[in-house]
Amino acid sequence: MTTTSSPDVKALESEHVLQNYRRFPVVFERGEGTRLFDTDGRSYLDFLSGIGVACLGYGHPVLTAALSRQAATLLHTSNLYFNPLQGELAARLSQLTGLERAFFCNSGTEAMEGCLKFARKYWHAQGQPRARFVALHHSFHGRSMGALSVTWDEHYRTPFEPLVPGAVFATSDDPEAIDALIDDTTAAVVVEPIRGEGGVRPVPPALASVITAACRRTGALLISDEVQSGTGRTGSFLHSGAVGLTPDLVALAKALGGGVPVGAVLMSKAVAASIAPGDHGTTYGGNLLACRAALTVLDALADGLQESITRMSSYLFDGLAAVARRTGAITEIRGAGLIAGLELASDALPVVNAALDRGLIINRTSANVIRLLPPYIITEREIDEALAILEESLRVAI
Ligand code: PLP
Repeated sequence: MTTTSSPDVKALESEHVLQNYRRFPVVFERGEGTRLFDTDGRSYLDFLSGIGVACLGYGHPVLTAALSRQAATLLHTSNLYFNPLQGELAARLSQLTGLERAFFCNSGTEAMEGCLKFARKYWHAQGQPRARFVALHHSFHGRSMGALSVTWDEHYRTPFEPLVPGAVFATSDDPEAIDALIDDTTAAVVVEPIRGEGGVRPVPPALASVITAACRRTGALLISDEVQSGTGRTGSFLHSGAVGLTPDLVALAKALGGGVPVGAVLMSKAVAASIAPGDHGTTYGGNLLACRAALTVLDALADGLQESITRMSSYLFDGLAAVARRTGAITEIRGAGLIAGLELASDALPVVNAALDRGLIINRTSANVIRLLPPYIITEREIDEALAILEESLRVAI
């Protein structure tokens, strides 16, 4: 049975799909470029990209052709056998980041889970197990038991306790406090260069230098969660360097597959040396379809898209500053590249709803922050269109 009409889709879901998501009342069935189309044929300009995933937009001709060729050739063989694409993808990621080894998985949560396990194994292999992780307030790293343990918001954690022991949280406003928490029992410090789910909050440079010094002093590893900020979104391939961090492990996912589920842990040779066959693994991770998707995204970035992100970013942030001046509704604008957080004095949800009614997809994070994560292929004209709708939405909803 194929169900396309919107009431049918909603009824079937509410009957049979676990009700763990609060969905907006719209059913998207098709995408083209930067636009999604719902089952009533309405068009929406997408400034969210499926939460930072669809970096090449929808129906991208090169990605579509690459995926269909790969699907016709070979989708999956498992990690029992050599794979013609994994090494190539790992080498490309290594060139882009300086981290020599890659482990492939299927999501951001799995990438973070891998980072935590590899950090523990690194210390275990040296005969001096360290269990502690130091993470930041406002952090979000995923919802598996490990990733959840280093996620700050108690609302996510409490119903599932006891979690993995050893995680402590530090505010990003007090470098001395985090310095005191990092000691020679710390396996790793876990940082998002921009805390996306926590309200698009960049790590302040002063904090980054204290973390760097403390990791050097104690030997603690640095894990950078670039699931949201990485794969070119902020103007460089990783955002760690821009805030002054040099990680030992990096988690990537979201934009890396352009819509195909792909996650990766990138790590230094020293960390990789502690991992032996059988220590960790996954059936799907790095399968041929996933690798083909990621290679196509990296090709597009190298082919001018990375520069375009930087150009579009300054156009977007200039436009946002003008909207803030004209409306008086935005108290702070944060972000870099094509991730922007607009802090409001009140709840952001009415603005998100007003924008959706007007054909613009944006989202709320951290209660009073509007988050924009447009596709990398966005143009100036589309930014103008989005800003006009955003401005009107702010006026009607606040
Ligand atoms: N880490 C960060 C920084 C994220 O933003 C997210 C998801 O939003 C995750 C991890 C979890 O990724 P996933 O939802 O792909 O499991």
